[in-house]
Amino acid sequence: MAPTRDALIAAFAEAGHELWLAGGRVRDELRGLPPEAQGDDDFATSALPDECERIARRLGATVNAIGQRFGTTGVHLAEGWAEITTFRGDSYTPGSRWPDVTFGSSIDEDLARRDFTVNAIARHTVTGELRDPFGGRDDIERRLLRAPGDPRTRFAEDPLRILRGVRFVSQLGFEVEPETKAAMAASVELLPTLSQERVTAEIERLLTGGGPEAGLEALHEIGALPHILPELAGMPGCEQNRFHQFDVWGHTTATVAAIETDPASRSLRRWAALLHDLGKPPVRHIKKNGEWGFYRHEIVGAEMAEALTERLRLGKREGALLALLVRRHMDRPDPDDGRLVRRFMRRLEGHWRDLLALKRADNASHTYDDHEYHDRLEAACERVEAEEAALLRAESPLDGRELMALLDREPGPWIARIKERLSTLVLDGELAPGDKEEAARIARRMGGAVSLLADSEERP
Ligand code: ATP
Ligand code: MG
Repeated sequence: MAPTRDALIAAFAEAGHELWLAGGRVRDELRGLPPEAQGDDDFATSALPDECERIARRLGATVNAIGQRFGTTGVHLAEGWAEITTFRGDSYTPGSRWPDVTFGSSIDEDLARRDFTVNAIARHTVTGELRDPFGGRDDIERRLLRAPGDPRTRFAEDPLRILRGVRFVSQLGFEVEPETKAAMAASVELLPTLSQERVTAEIERLLTGGGPEAGLEALHEIGALPHILPELAGMPGCEQNRFHQFDVWGHTTATVAAIETDPASRSLRRWAALLHDLGKPPVRHIKKNGEWGFYRHEIVGAEMAEALTERLRLGKREGALLALLVRRHMDRPDPDDGRLVRRFMRRLEGHWRDLLALKRADNASHTYDDHEYHDRLEAACERVEAEEAALLRAESPLDGRELMALLDREPGPWIARIKERLSTLVLDGELAPGDKEEAARIARRMGGAVSLLADSEERP
């Protein structure tokens, strides 16, 4: 059985160590969030990491010692995981990925090493005393993110704090205090020294926060885009035609803010909104009528999205799906043509709702209004899903083995081509699912044409 939080607090007191609740938990409590919405327990203590581990093990707790090099011991309590960190007295090596950790001797020294004043508040776990040496409570009231101490030094010694800051802009809805913002801007060149995993994790938190538009704008304002998302750096100032209220960047952040999500879809859809117009700056050209044109931007954008998601290590599946959504965001099937609607749905591999959400959000910052069309398309897709699910799953009535026997041919790329054709005919409602006889007639007819193609490909 995991020990309770109270048992842990009592054990530290008995051993003669100070134990303070610090960081996000105290901040969120002072912001008036209900306990279930507050962050995990982060404790600061006078005990050294070895001693933290000993105390926790004596209570029978499961311990995660991975962070001990940096002074942090993870402890599994009845209430959940908690992190106990020995008072910091860090000295950072600027430009290095990992700080050299030295331990401090008091909670005030520890708080002075923290990223923002609103996070530099601690509450004693036994006496309840509140330590707030940098005016963090006032900053919570004013909704301001301010670095404690000299802001330039703070960001230079750990540039991750810059990204944590813009992430908090989105998560907390706070603004960055001007001097702190200037200091962030002065250190953006150091961002590429951070590990990609940490950078990606902060961008993800920014995107899934409550105010992604403000977070992204802050990222742009401090000049961070070229250093962490260079593929997006051409968007600000990229003017569009008269149907748009904003440049590509303004339109992009408005789309991210407008896209409808639930907790399960938030990350994917916000990434899709962020990336959907990636291809616009590189393809922009003047059309005959003198307007800006963005011909094929969805195709170029999909290629860029694939490279970007790989560089950010978002995961193969998520990367492929994002590229697909970018590639298809201009699709506009006629809702009254069942065949076109089914082809549209099939191309989206089960993600037509995500694409529809993207199209609606994309439209939210246009000067014209396409609600009616999106409602009709959604109704058409719902109808197909309810009534024609079998067509949507359309498969070729003949498999590869059957085709080889039928046409008496060796395996090769021709099989995929014929199967693709047959399954499309089923999808279009022109061939009954499972009608092997008719499928064989079509396959025989196609056989000759495909063999010409295949032969010319196989013998260059
Ligand atoms: P969350 O609600 O996301 O957990 P948090 O503020 O608790 O937000 P953590 O990453 O859990 O963030 O960090 C806990 C505390 O440790 C922070 O509130 C902050 O005081 C401090 N901290 C974390 N990372 C840094 C950093 N890079 N530099 C300085 N202080 C940091
Ligand atoms: Mg936390």
